Amino acid sequence: MTLQIPFQNSYGTLPDRFYTRQTAEPVRAPELLAFNEGLAADLGITAGLPEEMAQVFGGNKVPEGADPLAQIYAGHQFGGFSPQLGDGRALLLGEVLKTNGQRVDIQMKGSGRTPYSRNGDGRAWLGPVLREYLLSEAFHALGIPTTRALAAVATGERVQRETGLPGAVLTRVASSHIRVGTFQYFYARRDLEGLQALYDYTRDRHYPQAETPHDLLRAVIARQIKLVVQWMGVGFIHGVMNTDNTTLSGETIDFGPAAFMDKFHPVTVYSSIDHQGRYSYDNQVNIICWNMAQLASCLVPLMSDGDAAVAAFTEIVNTMPEQIRTEWLRAFGQKIGIASATTEDEPLIGDLLRLMTQQEADFTNTFRALSEDAEIKNVSDPAAFAVWRARWRQRIAAEDAPQDLMCRVNPAVIPRNHRVEHMITAAVDGDMEPFHRLMRVLSKPYALAVADADLTAPPQPNEVVKATFCGT
Ligand code: AMP
Ligand code: MG
Repeated sequence: MTLQIPFQNSYGTLPDRFYTRQTAEPVRAPELLAFNEGLAADLGITAGLPEEMAQVFGGNKVPEGADPLAQIYAGHQFGGFSPQLGDGRALLLGEVLKTNGQRVDIQMKGSGRTPYSRNGDGRAWLGPVLREYLLSEAFHALGIPTTRALAAVATGERVQRETGLPGAVLTRVASSHIRVGTFQYFYARRDLEGLQALYDYTRDRHYPQAETPHDLLRAVIARQIKLVVQWMGVGFIHGVMNTDNTTLSGETIDFGPAAFMDKFHPVTVYSSIDHQGRYSYDNQVNIICWNMAQLASCLVPLMSDGDAAVAAFTEIVNTMPEQIRTEWLRAFGQKIGIASATTEDEPLIGDLLRLMTQQEADFTNTFRALSEDAEIKNVSDPAAFAVWRARWRQRIAAEDAPQDLMCRVNPAVIPRNHRVEHMITAAVDGDMEPFHRLMRVLSKPYALAVADADLTAPPQPNEVVKATFCGT
């Protein structure tokens, strides 16, 4: 059997200045570590032998029908604007249509240097490749919009980070790789023609119902709000919500220093370079407003009346805080079994989160314990929780099957940092078993087998991962 990918490419029909066509840099000894058969089937891909797939997804062989290119974009990184970033270590291989007709990108990450690599080596090491593979597939199983992982290949080469580490390439699938930063690139260069072409392409691909840039902005905002609230609902911190890591499709992208919280605290930060807490758990809702304001600015030149456009877009962005509050209330209401929470329920939710913060309660396990009517473990003052619980029971008495709802929205298991780190350490030693076990268990996060209950344990003090690194 030979690998067959039914490419139907479109990005390469955009003007030349949108990308640089090139192939991947070959690697010494590619070895297929993981391949996502379910996703491949959904994309109409016929799998080949492992050796052939390693050659293709390692970058040594261009698959038939591919049109490999590095995409250009800009972006605000930690608030500072970089007028040109682009795929510094990634290549878009091409696009395929899913069985449901939806167009998706197939992209390799870690595939070597491009004109946008700046000082980088164009490579990725095994740790972040497996972390992104695992986290993105876990997100998918949780029901959170995300890029997906198709394949991971070890390159047989070392990459130099703080030390020499085994290299790897991730092949991922996304609704597209169009970022807020892609719009910013053309906006910053006052390339109105490019901006219009990008807008038209984005609308046709993602928002065909949008009649005006206003409609498109509203639609992107709605998806991004839903996404960020979903992250918060599972205790997730993206870590690098730069505008180049914010997609127009509304999917989670670029799991760099991303992590799930164990103990709940609203200002938790994981990224080792986020000294100001810009991308802390709680601040994600503010940052998404800021990022959407950047997108709105980019759309202004598309309008004939600039002043009127600024006023209209400002009004749209200004609706975000209220929309976020509504979405948050809906999501966190459901987490405590209230199907349609109202503002009257806010104190009940807020008091629980305050208790959890004060007592350093485990985010995932606390909500799951409530869902299963079990004891909340590892808290300093169980009596305080009991008082809250009595109040809560009264409130949900009026709800229809609240705990069934809770078990559907509160996962029993998430990819805990210490487990992810342990999985990476094992993989570096050549043992992929922890990876495969985590993949299997996380594919059903709302239904945990008793035999896998160890994966719900918070880290021991010596296992706590305090920071995840950008050194990806
Ligand atoms: P990220 O932090 O992965 O979202 O990447 C931000 C920017 O840095 C993008 O333009 C990447 O392509 C680029 N980049 C990150 N790591 C590397 C690397 N090892 N080599 C070249 N470019 C990189
Ligand atoms: Mg990125």
